[in-house]
Amino acid sequence: MQTPKIIPLTPSHAVPETMPGLPASWPKNAPSYFHVLSKPSGATCNLDCTYCFFLSKEKLYPNSRFRMSDETLETYIRQLLESQRAPEVTIAWQGGEPTLMGLDFFNRAVELVHTYARPGINIQHTMQTNGWMVHKPCTIPTV
Ligand code: SF4
Repeated sequence: MQTPKIIPLTPSHAVPETMPGLPASWPKNAPSYFHVLSKPSGATCNLDCTYCFFLSKEKLYPNSRFRMSDETLETYIRQLLESQRAPEVTIAWQGGEPTLMGLDFFNRAVELVHTYARPGINIQHTMQTNGWMVHKPCTIPTV
């Protein structure tokens, strides 16, 4: 297996002063890259498959709206991009059903990736969906 090239960490010029930046030092054993699946609509779905192991997790958060806020989205995208040192980062969405967030949410996510991605980094956007709401051409811009 080929070892990916490691990109040194550099503080992002795009990080607003009110947000915490990168740590001054990085733990020696910190991974240089990793994969995260984000569930912006939590354990909600527009289907109810009999074999689904995940929908019942909704009961763990009785007062949740199960919709990722814009503030959390920005923090998530920024921290995910800052903490990866590989030349390629995957932004991966899953559910429940992530398309319940609506197209504006994903357009905003791409916009935030444009804001926080280091120059030269390759971004992959992926989504695991049941496809039920994918019925017309998608207009999500590419990075
Ligand atoms: S589509 Fe997926 S998340 Fe939705 S009920 Fe079926 S298995 Fe669960």
